[in-house]
Amino acid sequence: MPGLDPGIRHLRRRLDCRVKPGNDEEKPEDLTMATHKLLLLPGDGIGPEVMGEVKRLIDWLNAAGIAKFETDTGLVGGSAYDAHKVSISEGDMAKALAADAIIFGAVGGPKWDAVPYEVRPEAGLLRLRKDLALFANLRPAVCYPALADASSLKREAVEGLDIMIVRELTGGVYFGEPKTITDLGNGQKRAVDTQVYDTYEIERIGRVAFELARKRKNKVTSMEKRNVMKSGVLWNEVMTAVHKREYPDVTLEHQLADSGGMMLVKAPKQFDVIVTDNLFGDMLSDIAAMLTGSLGMLPSASLGEVDVKSRKRKALYEPVHGSAPDIAGKGLANPIAMISSFGMALRYSFDMGALADKVDAAIAAVLASGLRTADIKSEGTTAASTTQMGEAILKELQKLHA
Ligand code: NAD
Repeated sequence: MPGLDPGIRHLRRRLDCRVKPGNDEEKPEDLTMATHKLLLLPGDGIGPEVMGEVKRLIDWLNAAGIAKFETDTGLVGGSAYDAHKVSISEGDMAKALAADAIIFGAVGGPKWDAVPYEVRPEAGLLRLRKDLALFANLRPAVCYPALADASSLKREAVEGLDIMIVRELTGGVYFGEPKTITDLGNGQKRAVDTQVYDTYEIERIGRVAFELARKRKNKVTSMEKRNVMKSGVLWNEVMTAVHKREYPDVTLEHQLADSGGMMLVKAPKQFDVIVTDNLFGDMLSDIAAMLTGSLGMLPSASLGEVDVKSRKRKALYEPVHGSAPDIAGKGLANPIAMISSFGMALRYSFDMGALADKVDAAIAAVLASGLRTADIKSEGTTAASTTQMGEAILKELQKLHA
């Protein structure tokens, strides 16, 4: 890609962290033009606004003959509750199961605070993760050079930051049984959640982390609490065994999850890939999120096992942020997290690594030009609405593709 700013080219390379083997960076996109089926689930609040910017990108990719996406749309979260009194309908679940990838916006908001627990907006997302067996959650935390000053940490601590948090997503304490609140009859109640992991669950998330590390800086840090939790002891044992047996070429370090949290804010650049369980991953990835400036910048991917026959894997791509009811409908939402999530879909579901690199480079170029949505605005930069940001990114992408 001649003419690319060296900083952007560097960033593009650092963002190259594909799981699939044999993915050559400079390989041209597949010209046989397979049709890829996408299910778009915009959800609630700012979900539909940021999804609109991804749709803009998809429409251009289709029109320009760069890729062939067939899109369908469904309802999830509060919008599904309003229409069908469920968090996701069976019809939309069937579409999700049939799609090559799901692009998900965000769900929830005060409007649905009082709906029954079983049909609360988040239940739709949990059902998708569970029914599609999306056990691996990938959250990159990359600090774009132009945004290093937007971090809560000093520029030198985050400049060039590029870490990947791999969170186990379908096991652990969020799903373990028993999960109860019992009335003890003496004015007291007892709540029980169960942290439970089997060997195979730790092995498969470990493999995702080690594979990713091989395409990055070749280092995995596994985090658990083996000092106080049996599940931590097993996690540590299994990670060590998988490493020894299958990935001896990758550096493996173990860290207690609490001190890992401290290290993430003290010296985050020491990490490459962090692998951890559902609960710790939830928290550690939010901490890592803040290192990069704004929730509006953070993409994620949730992946299932690769199907042996089709070589495809179920996958859902979503921004880390929620539905941001405080800014919904005002054109203030930053669409970058959503657009980057679509970029991850190009990379991990469709083997379009070179195109994903261009999406990342387009985002970096727009940020370097000084355009900012309100959440990342600083002195001397130019304010942009959701739409203006989306349009600017598309324009850069078009330039990069010319
Ligand atoms: P949130 O992520 O929606 O918002 C937190 C803060 O970040 C808000 O000030 C918001 O304005 C800002 N923000 C978030 N995304 C932004 C973007 N793209 N551009 C600019 N600013 C952005 O978290 P919350 O306020 O704790 O939750 C709001 C609702 O979202 C709740 O109902 C919650 O349950 C739900 N939620 C859903 C998901 C999901 O769908 N995966 C994730 C988190 C929260």
